[in-house]
Amino acid sequence: MVVRTGEQFLQGLRDSREVWLEGERVADVTTHPKMARMAKTLAGLYDLQHLPENHGRMTFKSPSSGESVALSYLVPETIEDLLRRRTALEITARSCHGMLGRTPDYVNIQVTASRQLAHLFGRNDKRHGDNLRGYHEYVRERDLCLTHAFGHPQVNRSLSLAELPDAYTAVGVVEKTSEGVVVRGAKLLATLAPFSDEIFCPVYRPLRPGVEEDRKYCIGFALPVATPGLRFICRPSHDLGRPLADYPLSGQFDEMDAVAIFDDVLIPWDRVFIYDDVELANLTVQKVTLWRQYMQQVSVKNIAKLEFILGIVHGITESIGIGGYAHVQEKTAEVIDTLETVRAYMRAAEADAGRYEDAGPGAEGIWPAAEPWIAMRHWYPEAYARTASIIEQLAAGGLMLTPTEADLAGPLAEDIGKYYQGASVGAKERVRLFRLAWDLIGTQFGSRQSLYERFFNGDVVQLRQRRYASYDYSRADASLATFMDELEGG
Ligand SMILES: Cc1cc2nc3c(=O)[nH]c(=O)nc-3n(C[C@H](O)[C@H](O)[C@H](O)COP(=O)(O)OP(=O)(O)OC[C@H]3O[C@@H](n4cnc5c(N)ncnc54)[C@H](O)[C@@H]3O)c2cc1C
Repeated sequence: MVVRTGEQFLQGLRDSREVWLEGERVADVTTHPKMARMAKTLAGLYDLQHLPENHGRMTFKSPSSGESVALSYLVPETIEDLLRRRTALEITARSCHGMLGRTPDYVNIQVTASRQLAHLFGRNDKRHGDNLRGYHEYVRERDLCLTHAFGHPQVNRSLSLAELPDAYTAVGVVEKTSEGVVVRGAKLLATLAPFSDEIFCPVYRPLRPGVEEDRKYCIGFALPVATPGLRFICRPSHDLGRPLADYPLSGQFDEMDAVAIFDDVLIPWDRVFIYDDVELANLTVQKVTLWRQYMQQVSVKNIAKLEFILGIVHGITESIGIGGYAHVQEKTAEVIDTLETVRAYMRAAEADAGRYEDAGPGAEGIWPAAEPWIAMRHWYPEAYARTASIIEQLAAGGLMLTPTEADLAGPLAEDIGKYYQGASVGAKERVRLFRLAWDLIGTQFGSRQSLYERFFNGDVVQLRQRRYASYDYSRADASLATFMDELEGG
């Protein structure tokens, strides 16, 4: 059995990684008071693979070792494979009620999808394609946890990478040696980095062909998080160290976001997937549509999250007796519609899966259909924001009627019992429900959830600009032309 237990996962995090949190270098992310509970949550996800009821539902037989490896590493060959992968994703997403975007399966699928297109990376230098296949096998056979970072620091978005005040603001190549490539600069935003074994950094934006200064940014690679010279600056922790009953989400699901700084870091040659080939890098930016695979994880996560949210909305409605109002019914139905729309997008993408013809011969496996994912990716951020605003509207001032567990057990327990009770529930249950709702949308954790849903998958503004420029308008234009012709003909 290759899949790791939670304890093995935690053991893997106890290394020389350089993680900085609130001015302090974290000695051990598994025991640090602001990180330990999240590490434990992730360990629980690894343990899911060993539960008897999940036997055979989260793993498949490795083609190289014959051992049981995580299904997120499966190269899907059939729609049945996609559905099998979906089952594993569902077990994980449901276990954390969709509150974690970056369960390890997310980047596992990215690496698998990259491997499916290894022929593109190896087009001009076979070693790079082989490196990707080798890397996929390496992480699969060790059941590793990965973070990934695409972007570069938000210093000045009106300049190219080369024009920034320091040419090594974005990660660029300093030199190449017999051992590999030395890089310097920063990448963002590495969610889950403190709890990951590896960081995966594909090339993500087009570079200017023929522009000498841009060539240094042409580097795609992966590295262990505990590589010398690599450090991570975290945002402040959202785990306030308070009882779970008071902060039921912040206290266990703070997946953390960090900037990765590469201070003359050596990337060994076998970890280089693309190097000094701008034309090829630009081709991969266009063709390596990792999202066609990982959006399955995103939609499974969104479904689990929306089912949880719908439970909260329904609970609030029942608990304070507002279910009879027409607008409350309408708003609840809107959440249901959002949930079922995500499910429909997912099923459409899976049902229409096929070979990736545009990637040329050599692309492995089948790929969920692109169109449902694109539409969902562009629509969901606003739909999620609307869902959060519905909770705000329905819970209203109740979100502030949220004394702590200490209050509930303190000298004012009788007052709380009387004034905080609900229509159908006692005070304790009502307070806990509303604290949960507040943690979901109002605390630092809750605000980050909204920001995450808006941006984790790219900036919709720019994605839609690209959509406008690249959409095939032929059927729409033909429809209009036919109508006009008919009009003309009387
Ligand atoms: C919580 C969270 C977790 C994340 N996790 C990860 C992760 O694990 N890995 C990862 O790689 N990334 C991650 N991201 C980063 C995410 O991919 C980016 O936030 C997203 O792509 C937008 O980029 P940016 O934040 O740099 O915004 P910017 O690009 O700086 O945009 C700022 C504003 O300027 C506008 N703008 C900028 N450039 C243009 C342009 N050319 N045309 C029009 N408008 C423009 C944008 O529309 C936006 O309004 C995460 C983000 C968040 C918020």
